Amino acid sequence: MRGVAVIFCCLAGGLFGAVSAANAAACPGNPNALGTSRTITVDPQAMPKIGSMQYKTTLALEDHEVAITFDDGPLPPYTNRILDTLAAECVKVTYFLVGRQADAYPATVRRILAAGHVIGTHSQNHPLTFDQMALGRIEREVDGGIASVQTAAGDPRAVAPFFRIPGLLRNKTVEAYLATKSIAVWSADEVADDWYRHVSAKDIVTKAMSRIEAKGHRGILLLHDIHPATAMALPVLLRELKARGYRIVQAVPAGERPKVAPEPQPALVADAAGGWPRLAPTRETVGAAPTALPPKSLDRFGERKRETSSKGEHKSGRKFADKSERTSRIVRHQREKVSHCEMARRDRDPVVTASIARKRHKTAVSDAGWTRFQR
Ligand SMILES: [Zn+2]
Repeated sequence: MRGVAVIFCCLAGGLFGAVSAANAAACPGNPNALGTSRTITVDPQAMPKIGSMQYKTTLALEDHEVAITFDDGPLPPYTNRILDTLAAECVKVTYFLVGRQADAYPATVRRILAAGHVIGTHSQNHPLTFDQMALGRIEREVDGGIASVQTAAGDPRAVAPFFRIPGLLRNKTVEAYLATKSIAVWSADEVADDWYRHVSAKDIVTKAMSRIEAKGHRGILLLHDIHPATAMALPVLLRELKARGYRIVQAVPAGERPKVAPEPQPALVADAAGGWPRLAPTRETVGAAPTALPPKSLDRFGERKRETSSKGEHKSGRKFADKSERTSRIVRHQREKVSHCEMARRDRDPVVTASIARKRHKTAVSDAGWTRFQR
C-alpha cells in the first residue's frame, strides 16, 4: 500500500508539477556550497494539497532530494542569521510568513524576497484554532496575512499561492476556502521538533536527518526561522545534507515572479577546525539586540506563543521616563557589586528584568554559543 502511495505521488508530481532544471551556477565565495539543484513548479489547481504528513500528495522529489521550508517569521535576529546561512550555501527555500510579523519587520520580508526565496503565508495572527473557526474568521486570517506580506514585500506578485495552516490544524472548511482562491495548502513530509522549548541544535539536526532518511531519503522539511536553536542548527544541517549526498530542491509557483535583486554575500571565515566556512560576525547578526524576547509558552501544536504586543513591543518593555536616573541606578548597583538579577529583584524593575532576559537571549545566539555547538 505504501509503495502504491509513493508511486502515486511520483506520478502525480510528474503529471502536475512541471520540473525544470535550476541554474546550478557556482556559489560565489563558497566552492563547497550545497547549492540548489533544481526547482519544481507547483500548480495549486493540479496539486491543491501538499505534504505526506497529512495528505496523499506531496512534491515529486527524487531520491536524496529535500525541500526546506521555514514557518512563523520573520523575526530578527534569527531570520537574518538563517538568511546569512542560506546565502553562504546558495540554498533557496520556501517561507511561510505570518502577516503580523511581516507588518513588524517589512525590511526582513524584502530581504527574503531579494535573496530569491519563495514566500507563502501562514495567516495574519497565527491562531491555533483553524480547525474550529467560522468561515468569516478563516477568510480574515488568510486574506489578512496575504495582504500584510504583499504590503511588506512591496509587490503583490511576491506572494506565492502557498499557505500553511498554523499548527497544521487542517479541516475541510479551510481547505475548501483555499481551493476557491487557487491557493495550495502545504503540510510537510518531516518536522524536526525545533519548536520545543529546550530542544538543542544538535537534536534538530539529528531528528531532521533521521526522519528524512526514514521517509525514503527525501522530503519537505518543516523548520521555524524564529528560534535560536534552529538558527544554530542550520549550518550543520546543510553540511550534513551535503555530506550524505542530498540535493536541495525549491518549490516555486507558476507565472511571473518579481525580479530578484542580488543579495550581498556575507563574508566567510575559515572554521578553526578547518573545512567548514563560518559566517563572519556582523553588526546585524551579532551586535544587534533582539527585537523581541524569546517566546516562552508552548501552545497547542507545540508552537510558541509570542509575547509581543500589537505594536511589536515586549509587554514588559516600559519606556524610561528618565534615562539618566536609570543609568545612575545601574552604576550605583555595579559599585556595590550587586548582580543584575539582584538589582532587578531589589528594584522590581520590569525594564531591568527585561534587559537581563535580553542579554541571556543574545548570548544564546552569540558566536560563543555557535562555536560551542560546532565542537
Ligand atoms: Zn506556525
